[in-house]
Amino acid sequence: MEGQTYSSMKFSHRYRNAASEFSLTPSRRTFLLVPALGLLPNPIESRVTLPPAQRPITRVLLGGDVMLARYVGALARQRADPAWPLRNVADLFSSADIAFVNLEAPFSDRGRKVESGMVFKAEPEMIESLRVAGIDIVSTANNHARDCGRYGIEFTLDWLQKNGVETVGTAPTAELAHAGTILERNQVGFGFLAYTYDQSNGNHADQDDRVAMMDVDAMTADVESLLKRTDLVIVSMHAGTEYQQTPNAQQRKFARAAIDAGATVVVGHHPHVTQPVEAYAKGVIFYSLGNLAFDQFQRKETQLGLIADLRFSGKRLAGYGVIPVEIIRTVPRIVKT
Ligand SMILES: [Zn+2]
Repeated sequence: MEGQTYSSMKFSHRYRNAASEFSLTPSRRTFLLVPALGLLPNPIESRVTLPPAQRPITRVLLGGDVMLARYVGALARQRADPAWPLRNVADLFSSADIAFVNLEAPFSDRGRKVESGMVFKAEPEMIESLRVAGIDIVSTANNHARDCGRYGIEFTLDWLQKNGVETVGTAPTAELAHAGTILERNQVGFGFLAYTYDQSNGNHADQDDRVAMMDVDAMTADVESLLKRTDLVIVSMHAGTEYQQTPNAQQRKFARAAIDAGATVVVGHHPHVTQPVEAYAKGVIFYSLGNLAFDQFQRKETQLGLIADLRFSGKRLAGYGVIPVEIIRTVPRIVKT
């Protein structure tokens, strides 16, 4: 089935409709309760605990590329505030039940500080950005995953874990990288998987299988297997053509295949600019959220990003929309509409 494409402007309206819908209509559970009571042999003696009129709404916020090295790190050091890059959006992300971003630079405690170039390294103290913003889970599967070598992959996983941030897309073994990560909120299991189109950025000739690569068959098997252990799946996809505002064939094929496999949401990043949101089959695809914290000043489009705002009622996606941000000197700020 072909999906429909919406611009982000239309999308915010769509979101408001969905939001009012789930606050006014009774939940599916309320409807189911009535015939169930009728079947009880002796209603007087039975002790029925009525379910709440509405299931709790779980809010999931998804952000794009967060790069805590280079000039982003330098500016934070100038201010003596390693949480500086996400401070303006910290209240918003902290208010969510689950907050996710793509972590575009590995952490490492080895070597000199990186303030320029295309090989990234975030100083360990920059973890404060994620902590202050209440980021629960990051994707580490991207084209900079190996910028600090094998050590960088391991240090990053370890450092995030020690600081209470879950990871998805890279893992100590290939098997674990494809197993996904489950976060439970309001008694619903939110499963995450993450993949990248490239893991080397031209720096490595070999392949590290601890970084999950985009392969439709492998991803389909991963989604199906994760759905046996959890209620719903969100797939992170690091792909696309840089600075292009339309998704390429690889993005479309992979994202739609993820929904076809049973995922509810696909969240894309890497192009450094935003791309359309697509309602496809029973799911939604955010092809590219653009940058969230980055030091790309060469064009206006790289300084505008989106935060995907999802609301789940139980495991059902009840509404979604986008929150636009503008990035001023590497730091995102919510655009008031
Ligand atoms: Zn990238």
